[in-house]
Amino acid sequence: MTGKTCAWHGDADGSDHWDTDCHNAFVLNDGTPADSGMKFCCYCGRTLVTDVVTDKDDDDDNQD
Ligand SMILES: [Zn+2]
Repeated sequence: MTGKTCAWHGDADGSDHWDTDCHNAFVLNDGTPADSGMKFCCYCGRTLVTDVVTDKDDDDDNQD
């Protein structure tokens, strides 16, 4: 809710599924959103940043 960016969280495992900070989900066939030339979140309009989870054992993206 803070800041002007919307992080899209993806798996490094080759998953096509991305979860966005604004609580939407998106499936990309072609790499990262940046690879597809996406600069803004298509849901909330904020600047899109990608956050690829590389450590599967540290599955703690629900901090509050
Ligand atoms: Zn968003």
